[in-house]
Amino acid sequence: MNIVAWMGLNLKRRLHYILVGCAAMLALAGGTLAFSGSIEASTPRFANFARPNFDKAPPPPALDLARRWGLAEIGEFTRLASDEGICREALSAVGVNWVETPAQESEIGCGFESAIGVSGTLASYSVPSTMTCPLAARLYLWEMEVVAPAAEKHLGTTIASIDVMGTFSCRRVAGTAHLSKHSFGEAIDIAGFKTADGRDIPVLRTYRTDSPEGQFLREIRRGACGLFDVTLGPDFNLDHANHFHLDIGGGYACH
Ligand SMILES: [Zn+2]
Repeated sequence: MNIVAWMGLNLKRRLHYILVGCAAMLALAGGTLAFSGSIEASTPRFANFARPNFDKAPPPPALDLARRWGLAEIGEFTRLASDEGICREALSAVGVNWVETPAQESEIGCGFESAIGVSGTLASYSVPSTMTCPLAARLYLWEMEVVAPAAEKHLGTTIASIDVMGTFSCRRVAGTAHLSKHSFGEAIDIAGFKTADGRDIPVLRTYRTDSPEGQFLREIRRGACGLFDVTLGPDFNLDHANHFHLDIGGGYACH
């Protein structure tokens, strides 16, 4: 329609054309909006962001307590566990709960710079115990590599708890002037075990018996010798008739 024809239309007719034109523009705009909305709905938001891959396992800690450690590797295990940060991370990674214990020092030389409080390593302890992290890591290793397999073999069950007689305490080795490894949180005395099926296995009454429980105790005492520096039990002397003494204070003894 040219301008001459447009001017020739009466006002009512002109308004009619204007209204039809506006309606057509609105319809076109609405369609465009609806179309762009459907594109957006089919495209994930933040598609450019990296999404975590939950199928990929996190890297193991520097000291992986969950893997099998052979006896030949105990030197490497000891080296790693002596790093306080690595040791604590390793315990946490396998679900061992620990709390920081303030440094202790006594006049006669007992104490430690850092230690942890634990209520259990693989099995729970009868009492919450204070010890150095490397001792806790070594206990976890012993339970995994020696105690659990022996419990399965001789008793057909698992160990639910360890009867702890003592860990950190300032004292001298009986009959000597030397401070015990207990004085530094590097030793534990174990009086017995409780199985998951409710059996009580005290070292004192069971160690020398010809029973599955006695065989179990003798086997885990032997197995401790390769993992701890000093392992003492009822075969050593009367002082140890009722417990195993395990420590990581250096030297070597296996009785
Ligand atoms: Zn002891």
